[in-house]
Amino acid sequence: MDDWFLSGYSLNPYSNCSFNCVYCYTRGSKYGENQVPGLAAKINAPEVLVKQLKNRARKREYGFIAFGSATDPYLPVEEDLRLTRELLIIILRFRFPLHLLTRSPLILQDLDILKKIGEKAVIPDQFQDKTDTGVVLSFSFSTTDEHLARIFEPGAPSPQERLETMKQCKEEGFTVGAIFMPLLPFLSDREEHLDEMIRKVKESGADFVMASGLTLFGEGPQDCKTRYYEVLEEHFPELVPKTRVIFGNSFAPSRKYQNELHQRFVRLCQKYQIRNRVY
Ligand code: SF4
Repeated sequence: MDDWFLSGYSLNPYSNCSFNCVYCYTRGSKYGENQVPGLAAKINAPEVLVKQLKNRARKREYGFIAFGSATDPYLPVEEDLRLTRELLIIILRFRFPLHLLTRSPLILQDLDILKKIGEKAVIPDQFQDKTDTGVVLSFSFSTTDEHLARIFEPGAPSPQERLETMKQCKEEGFTVGAIFMPLLPFLSDREEHLDEMIRKVKESGADFVMASGLTLFGEGPQDCKTRYYEVLEEHFPELVPKTRVIFGNSFAPSRKYQNELHQRFVRLCQKYQIRNRVY
């Protein structure tokens, strides 16, 4: 089980993602290997899911399902297709708990089912003393700066829309959190950036925050490493050499960078009295 994401299982209704983030880690990494070009809906997913969950429920192998870990489950196409909704109904039927990740206000159309999943899900033993609800809703941000978000996440709902959606979900009684992933070196990872981001999500009801640095994969023209440096060159050319230094030849930033980021983040979580993990 992935303790961090609370996930025993993962489920993605779509392949590829029309939010088109410049840094999208699925482009050029193993996480995108099985993705088809262009956006695709996994139309046989309901059938497969029924089989899988029926089998697991029979053996009482209940675990949180990470929903939307590789692509957003509330892409604009969901408004018509309602594939995510169909899968949620199956999850409710088999009483599995859920950790759903999104950036989209479209989630609001499914709060009725999500609420029922929260009430009916069988909570795995290791979480029983930590929660009595079977649903966690996370909203991801690489920044809460609107200008930066337009550059790096051209197709995604704005950070302000995400904050407002998170607030509404909190008001409806859900456990909600913010996932700062990936934090952009020198643009959204400094003390002042993180301070503002944590303050904003806390004001919008976040019960927890998590954070992680940028990863850059691939050398192809559409891979995230290539695209990230292109966009950086266009908008923030002065940051290109500094960014290359912290990555060296790796897909991940240096250990030193990661440690410093982690310490900064933990310190700010203490300042704002907010958990830095789901439970
Ligand atoms: S929302 Fe997530 S999956 Fe979609 S493009 Fe952005 S980083 Fe990739």
